[in-house]
Amino acid sequence: MFVTISTTGTAGNPATDLGYLLHKHPDKAQAFSTSYGTAHVFYPEADAERCAAALLLETDTLALVRRGKGKGRGGAPDAALAQYVNDRPYAASSLLAVALSTVFSSALRGVCDARPERAAAPLPLRVEVPALPARGGAGLVHRLFAPLGWTVTADPVPLDTAFPEWGDSRYVRLVLESDRLTLAEALRHLYVLLPVLDDAKHYWVSADEVDKLLRAGEGWLAGHPEQQLITSRYLSRRWSLTRQARERLELVRLAEADDSEVEDIDNAVAEETEAEEKPTPLAEQRRAAILTALHASDAARVLDLGCGQGQLVRALLKDARFTEIVGVDVSVRALAIAERRLRLDRMGERQAARVRLVQGSLAYADNRLKGYDAAVLSEVIEHLDLPRLPALEYAVFGHARPRTVVVTTPNVEYNVRWESLPAGHARHGDHRFEWTREEFRAWAATVAGRHGYDVGFVPVGPDDPEVGPPTQMAVFHRDDTEKEAKAA
Ligand code: SAH
Repeated sequence: MFVTISTTGTAGNPATDLGYLLHKHPDKAQAFSTSYGTAHVFYPEADAERCAAALLLETDTLALVRRGKGKGRGGAPDAALAQYVNDRPYAASSLLAVALSTVFSSALRGVCDARPERAAAPLPLRVEVPALPARGGAGLVHRLFAPLGWTVTADPVPLDTAFPEWGDSRYVRLVLESDRLTLAEALRHLYVLLPVLDDAKHYWVSADEVDKLLRAGEGWLAGHPEQQLITSRYLSRRWSLTRQARERLELVRLAEADDSEVEDIDNAVAEETEAEEKPTPLAEQRRAAILTALHASDAARVLDLGCGQGQLVRALLKDARFTEIVGVDVSVRALAIAERRLRLDRMGERQAARVRLVQGSLAYADNRLKGYDAAVLSEVIEHLDLPRLPALEYAVFGHARPRTVVVTTPNVEYNVRWESLPAGHARHGDHRFEWTREEFRAWAATVAGRHGYDVGFVPVGPDDPEVGPPTQMAVFHRDDTEKEAKAA
């Protein structure tokens, strides 16, 4: 069982950096013992122009048989093991995937302290597996790898070259090439898809396999056209696990779709309501209104609460007035996208020092959010269930207590102006409520009164004489000089 991963170098980026990324030194051949035998890592080629790392798994047939005893379904010896005992030893299979994850565990997670910037960046990669068991043949190999950005060559291996009339074996010689992927992404593709192609798991599939699959599939599995086949095969067709995985992937997909839906809707609203040649999308108008409010309040250190994929964080970064910007969101996935889009990893040191993304829930008081000049809640409150709203209110206005708080939310009255929206429907699948101007003002006034803020209202988008603007914005302000004077 054998796989090679190679890359080419450019000026300033020697190919041998691969050794750092894999956490394995190119000058040394190393051996690691795994549950199924010994994994060897060595570099057939290692210079500044080209570097190739090879992983060879020498399976220990006896260990496999011993492990197999009592590990199969219902305690019976695992019948699937038989093929590993018989299999040609150089075939890649799910055992190789396990070895990959054991030997290259940090690389799989994209961790590289020595070359963090290279670990985060795509690099020219070539992966070769000389004998890959592939149920479904070369066609399926293409369908699995091509959508992920690989150029795929999958040549069927004849059963016996001396007897071409016997036809092809179930193996293909696989070559994958791409310069669009990071090494971690590439390893995660292999980790999931090698066993999927092998389609014969050698160990009992337990519930934590769903977690492993989703972790390795983060960022690519939810949108993969063969997602159903991948989850079903990866989880050895265990229906309850497969369903669990699909449900969780569906949530990921919906979250992604929701985000693009928001932009679509915003664009639609702006296009419909503005006769200008090139309408400004509502999301952009919202960001402009927020920036104006922040400027007026002289804020320098700003929290973007529920920052999502970081569009406002990006706008804040462009403005030197804001010296510290913290994006907070409950969604790890949204934060990962924000991090990638903002290119935090490639930012200069001074820029990077201005910005931070942190995961946290706004439904809990959080000391990390104390001491800022301003907080923004842009299109966030309507994502909370109404009974949770007082918790957010306390966390922001009662506990964090920035001098200024800017809150935007849709104005439900405006929905009648929006043709494609069926009457009585919220704009966004995940909106738990949408308020009229009256309702929003009443809520804001209560919050301001309770926590010692003043509040004013600003329309965002075209202010319709009858139904008002599509977005309503409240700007809360707390005058702390009074309190300080008292304290003095
Ligand atoms: N502020 C962004 C994103 C709005 S979408 C914009 O204006 O475009 C709402 C965001 O709030 C989502 O990213 C969601 O993950 C986040 N969110 C919802 N409930 C939250 C909570 N309890 N704590 C923190 N973030 C939350």
